[in-house]
Amino acid sequence: MTSTETAYDESCLFCRIVAGQIPATVVRDNADFLAFRDINPQAPTHVLVIPKAHGYRDVGELAAKNPELAGRLLAEGAEVARQEGLPDFADIPGYRLVFNTDDAAGQTVYHVHLHVLGGDALGHFGSAPH
Ligand code: AMP
Ligand code: ZN
Repeated sequence: MTSTETAYDESCLFCRIVAGQIPATVVRDNADFLAFRDINPQAPTHVLVIPKAHGYRDVGELAAKNPELAGRLLAEGAEVARQEGLPDFADIPGYRLVFNTDDAAGQTVYHVHLHVLGGDALGHFGSAPH
């Protein structure tokens, strides 16, 4: 990894969560990834999975700069879903993995993160009504 990819950015909310400076409900923690509950859940289960390293603003940049880490982030998302019981959830099994990318998708934190959503039937996605 380069120094850019490992840099801690003190102005970045998710770097501050990784550093323990902002509290979060952590559901999974290992060398390269942290998973924690979204503070404003959009489904009964809503977990964010991030690479601990700063340096990738969105999924496109992550895939271009570090495809191996991108692949492992997807596996980590699937593992979080499994840990949360979503693939076998009795009422309605399954889940959704989402990367919001830039303004059109409403990205607010530019430290790449994977949303893991489930625990209920999920609405369709696409354009907001307008
Ligand atoms: P995005 O809109 O894709 O950039 O997602 C950013 C997500 O971070 C949103 O779903 C927020 O609800 C969530 N979020 C913001 N602050 C916190 C926090 N302190 N702890 C957990 N999740 C947060
Ligand atoms: Zn960061």
